[in-house]
Amino acid sequence: MKILLIEDEPKVASFIKKGLEEQSYEVDQAYDGTLGIRLALQKEYDLIILDIILPNMNGLDVCREIRRHNTTVSILMLTALGTTDDKIIGLDAGADDYLTKPFEFKELLARIRAISRRSSESSVGEKLSIADLEMDVVAKTVTRGGKPLNLTAREFALLHYLLRNKGRVLSRVDITEQVWETSFDTGSNVIDVYINFLRKKVDKGYAAKLIHTLVGMGYVLKEQKEV
Ligand code: CA
Repeated sequence: MKILLIEDEPKVASFIKKGLEEQSYEVDQAYDGTLGIRLALQKEYDLIILDIILPNMNGLDVCREIRRHNTTVSILMLTALGTTDDKIIGLDAGADDYLTKPFEFKELLARIRAISRRSSESSVGEKLSIADLEMDVVAKTVTRGGKPLNLTAREFALLHYLLRNKGRVLSRVDITEQVWETSFDTGSNVIDVYINFLRKKVDKGYAAKLIHTLVGMGYVLKEQKEV
Protein backbone atom coordinates (compact mmCIF):
# COMPACT_ATOMS: atom_id res chain seq x y z
CA MET A 1 0.00 0.00 0.00
CA LYS A 2 1.43 3.37 -1.05
CA ILE A 3 0.71 6.35 1.14
CA LEU A 4 1.33 10.04 0.61
CA LEU A 5 1.70 12.04 3.82
CA ILE A 6 1.14 15.79 3.57
CA GLU A 7 2.09 17.32 6.92
CA ASP A 8 4.25 20.36 7.64
CA GLU A 9 5.29 19.69 11.23
CA PRO A 10 8.58 17.75 10.95
CA LYS A 11 8.16 15.96 14.29
CA VAL A 12 4.63 14.76 13.58
CA ALA A 13 5.51 13.87 10.00
CA SER A 14 8.52 11.77 10.92
CA PHE A 15 6.62 10.05 13.73
CA ILE A 16 3.87 9.03 11.32
CA LYS A 17 6.23 8.06 8.50
CA LYS A 18 8.43 5.95 10.76
CA GLY A 19 5.45 4.19 12.32
CA LEU A 20 3.90 3.41 8.95
CA GLU A 21 7.14 2.12 7.50
CA GLU A 22 7.48 -0.22 10.47
CA GLN A 23 4.13 -1.66 9.32
CA SER A 24 5.56 -2.13 5.80
CA TYR A 25 3.65 0.73 4.23
CA GLU A 26 5.48 2.71 1.57
CA VAL A 27 5.39 6.42 2.46
CA ASP A 28 6.16 9.55 0.44
CA GLN A 29 6.23 12.85 2.24
CA ALA A 30 5.34 16.42 1.36
CA TYR A 31 5.76 19.35 3.75
CA ASP A 32 3.36 21.68 1.97
CA GLY A 33 0.24 21.57 -0.14
CA THR A 34 1.82 22.54 -3.44
CA LEU A 35 4.28 19.65 -3.38
CA GLY A 36 1.54 17.41 -2.00
CA ILE A 37 -0.73 18.12 -4.95
CA ARG A 38 2.12 17.63 -7.41
CA LEU A 39 3.00 14.21 -5.95
CA ALA A 40 -0.67 13.20 -5.68
CA LEU A 41 -1.21 13.89 -9.37
CA GLN A 42 2.08 12.40 -10.56
CA LYS A 43 2.07 9.12 -8.69
CA GLU A 44 -0.47 6.46 -7.82
CA TYR A 45 -1.32 6.32 -4.14
CA ASP A 46 -3.77 4.15 -2.26
CA LEU A 47 -4.13 6.70 0.48
CA ILE A 48 -3.33 10.34 1.14
CA ILE A 49 -2.99 11.47 4.76
CA LEU A 50 -3.56 15.19 4.73
CA ASP A 51 -3.12 17.71 7.52
CA ILE A 52 -5.57 20.63 7.47
CA ILE A 53 -3.27 23.33 8.76
CA LEU A 54 -0.44 23.75 6.26
CA PRO A 55 1.65 26.76 5.17
CA ASN A 56 0.56 28.69 2.05
CA MET A 57 -2.34 26.49 1.05
CA ASN A 58 -4.58 24.79 3.62
CA GLY A 59 -5.50 21.12 3.59
CA LEU A 60 -9.09 21.75 2.52
CA ASP A 61 -7.96 23.51 -0.67
CA VAL A 62 -5.36 20.79 -1.24
CA CYS A 63 -8.09 18.18 -0.88
CA ARG A 64 -10.41 19.97 -3.33
CA GLU A 65 -7.61 20.32 -5.86
CA ILE A 66 -6.67 16.63 -5.65
CA ARG A 67 -10.34 15.67 -5.97
CA ARG A 68 -10.72 17.73 -9.14
CA HIS A 69 -8.32 15.30 -10.80
CA ASN A 70 -8.67 12.12 -8.81
CA THR A 71 -11.99 10.98 -7.42
CA THR A 72 -10.98 7.52 -6.31
CA VAL A 73 -7.90 7.88 -4.08
CA SER A 74 -8.74 7.64 -0.37
CA ILE A 75 -8.05 10.79 1.63
CA LEU A 76 -7.75 10.76 5.40
CA MET A 77 -7.70 14.20 6.94
CA LEU A 78 -5.87 15.09 10.12
CA THR A 79 -7.55 17.86 12.01
CA ALA A 80 -6.98 19.63 15.28
CA LEU A 81 -10.43 21.09 14.88
CA GLY A 82 -12.76 18.67 16.54
CA THR A 83 -16.26 20.01 16.07
CA THR A 84 -18.72 18.25 13.78
CA ASP A 85 -18.96 21.32 11.54
CA ASP A 86 -15.23 21.29 10.89
CA LYS A 87 -15.34 17.59 10.14
CA ILE A 88 -18.16 18.10 7.67
CA ILE A 89 -16.27 20.88 5.92
CA GLY A 90 -13.42 18.38 5.49
CA LEU A 91 -15.70 15.68 4.16
CA ASP A 92 -17.38 18.22 1.93
CA ALA A 93 -13.97 19.08 0.46
CA GLY A 94 -13.69 15.44 -0.59
CA ALA A 95 -12.00 13.67 2.32
CA ASP A 96 -13.17 10.13 3.09
CA ASP A 97 -12.38 10.09 6.76
CA TYR A 98 -10.81 12.25 9.43
CA LEU A 99 -8.78 11.78 12.54
CA THR A 100 -8.64 14.41 15.27
CA LYS A 101 -5.22 15.38 16.62
CA PRO A 102 -3.82 14.27 18.96
CA PHE A 103 -4.55 10.66 18.03
CA GLU A 104 -3.11 7.34 19.06
CA PHE A 105 -1.03 5.66 16.41
CA LYS A 106 -3.05 2.46 16.67
CA GLU A 107 -6.16 4.49 15.78
CA LEU A 108 -4.45 5.71 12.62
CA LEU A 109 -3.48 2.12 11.75
CA ALA A 110 -7.05 0.94 12.31
CA ARG A 111 -8.36 3.61 9.91
CA ILE A 112 -5.79 2.64 7.29
CA ARG A 113 -6.69 -1.05 7.61
CA ALA A 114 -10.36 -0.18 7.17
CA ILE A 115 -9.60 1.86 4.06
CA SER A 116 -7.49 -0.92 2.51
CA ARG A 117 -10.12 -3.53 3.38
CA ARG A 118 -12.74 -1.43 1.64
CA SER A 119 -10.68 -1.10 -1.52
CA SER A 120 -9.78 -4.81 -1.66
CA GLU A 121 -13.40 -5.83 -1.02
CA SER A 122 -14.35 -3.77 -4.03
CA SER A 123 -11.96 -5.62 -6.32
CA VAL A 124 -14.00 -8.81 -6.64
CA GLY A 125 -15.52 -9.03 -10.12
CA GLU A 126 -18.95 -7.61 -9.64
CA LYS A 127 -21.53 -5.46 -11.34
CA LEU A 128 -24.48 -4.14 -9.43
CA SER A 129 -27.53 -2.33 -10.69
CA ILE A 130 -30.93 -0.92 -9.88
CA ALA A 131 -33.25 0.60 -12.48
CA ASP A 132 -30.99 2.46 -14.92
CA LEU A 133 -28.15 2.83 -12.38
CA GLU A 134 -25.14 0.56 -12.87
CA MET A 135 -22.02 0.11 -10.81
CA ASP A 136 -18.91 -1.63 -12.06
CA VAL A 137 -17.17 -2.57 -8.83
CA VAL A 138 -13.86 -3.43 -10.50
CA ALA A 139 -13.59 -0.39 -12.75
CA LYS A 140 -15.06 1.75 -9.93
CA THR A 141 -17.47 3.43 -12.27
CA VAL A 142 -21.12 4.29 -11.86
CA THR A 143 -23.53 5.29 -14.59
CA ARG A 144 -27.13 6.35 -14.58
CA GLY A 145 -29.00 6.03 -17.85
CA GLY A 146 -25.60 5.41 -19.43
CA LYS A 147 -24.26 8.73 -18.15
CA PRO A 148 -21.18 8.50 -15.89
CA LEU A 149 -21.52 9.77 -12.31
CA ASN A 150 -18.46 11.29 -10.71
CA LEU A 151 -18.35 9.88 -7.17
CA THR A 152 -15.71 10.27 -4.48
CA ALA A 153 -14.29 7.12 -2.89
CA ARG A 154 -16.59 7.49 0.10
CA GLU A 155 -19.69 8.17 -1.97
CA PHE A 156 -18.82 5.10 -4.03
CA ALA A 157 -18.47 2.99 -0.87
CA LEU A 158 -21.79 4.28 0.44
CA LEU A 159 -23.60 3.59 -2.83
CA HIS A 160 -21.95 0.16 -3.01
CA TYR A 161 -23.36 -0.67 0.42
CA LEU A 162 -26.83 0.61 -0.53
CA LEU A 163 -26.74 -1.38 -3.77
CA ARG A 164 -25.67 -4.59 -2.03
CA ASN A 165 -28.69 -4.13 0.24
CA LYS A 166 -31.20 -2.66 -2.19
CA GLY A 167 -34.77 -2.75 -0.96
CA ARG A 168 -33.60 -3.06 2.64
CA VAL A 169 -33.96 -0.21 5.11
CA LEU A 170 -30.53 0.66 6.49
CA SER A 171 -30.21 2.58 9.71
CA ARG A 172 -27.59 5.26 10.30
CA VAL A 173 -25.88 2.83 12.67
CA ASP A 174 -25.72 0.12 9.95
CA ILE A 175 -24.28 2.62 7.49
CA THR A 176 -21.76 4.01 9.97
CA GLU A 177 -20.52 0.55 10.91
CA GLN A 178 -20.43 -0.87 7.42
CA VAL A 179 -19.22 2.06 5.37
CA TRP A 180 -17.16 4.01 7.90
CA GLU A 181 -16.28 1.00 10.08
CA THR A 182 -16.34 3.27 13.05
CA SER A 183 -18.92 5.03 15.15
CA PHE A 184 -19.36 8.78 15.14
CA ASP A 185 -20.25 10.74 18.21
CA THR A 186 -23.99 10.63 18.73
CA GLY A 187 -25.68 13.55 17.07
CA SER A 188 -23.23 13.71 14.19
CA ASN A 189 -24.99 14.17 10.88
CA VAL A 190 -22.19 12.90 8.68
CA ILE A 191 -24.35 10.13 7.21
CA ASP A 192 -27.12 12.57 6.29
CA VAL A 193 -24.58 14.89 4.70
CA TYR A 194 -23.20 12.03 2.60
CA ILE A 195 -26.63 10.78 1.60
CA ASN A 196 -27.32 14.31 0.37
CA PHE A 197 -24.08 14.38 -1.64
CA LEU A 198 -25.06 11.08 -3.20
CA ARG A 199 -28.62 12.19 -3.87
CA LYS A 200 -27.41 15.21 -5.78
CA LYS A 201 -25.38 12.97 -8.05
CA VAL A 202 -27.68 9.95 -8.32
CA ASP A 203 -31.22 11.34 -8.25
CA LYS A 204 -31.13 15.02 -9.15
CA GLY A 205 -32.84 15.56 -12.46
CA TYR A 206 -34.30 12.04 -12.68
CA ALA A 207 -38.02 11.30 -12.39
CA ALA A 208 -37.48 7.96 -10.67
CA LYS A 209 -35.77 8.57 -7.33
CA LEU A 210 -33.63 5.75 -5.98
CA ILE A 211 -32.52 6.98 -2.55
CA HIS A 212 -35.34 7.28 -0.04
CA THR A 213 -35.45 8.48 3.55
CA LEU A 214 -37.63 6.74 6.09
CA VAL A 215 -38.00 9.20 8.90
CA GLY A 216 -36.72 7.77 12.17
CA MET A 217 -35.56 4.55 10.48
CA GLY A 218 -32.91 5.26 7.93
CA TYR A 219 -32.42 5.00 4.20
CA VAL A 220 -33.38 2.58 1.45
CA LEU A 221 -32.32 2.25 -2.16
CA LYS A 222 -35.29 1.32 -4.31
CA GLU A 223 -37.05 2.35 -7.46
CA GLN A 224 -40.03 4.52 -6.75
CA LYS A 225 -41.62 7.47 -8.47
CA GLU A 226 -42.10 10.50 -6.22
CA VAL A 227 -45.76 11.43 -5.92
CA1 CA B 1 0.13 21.31 10.32
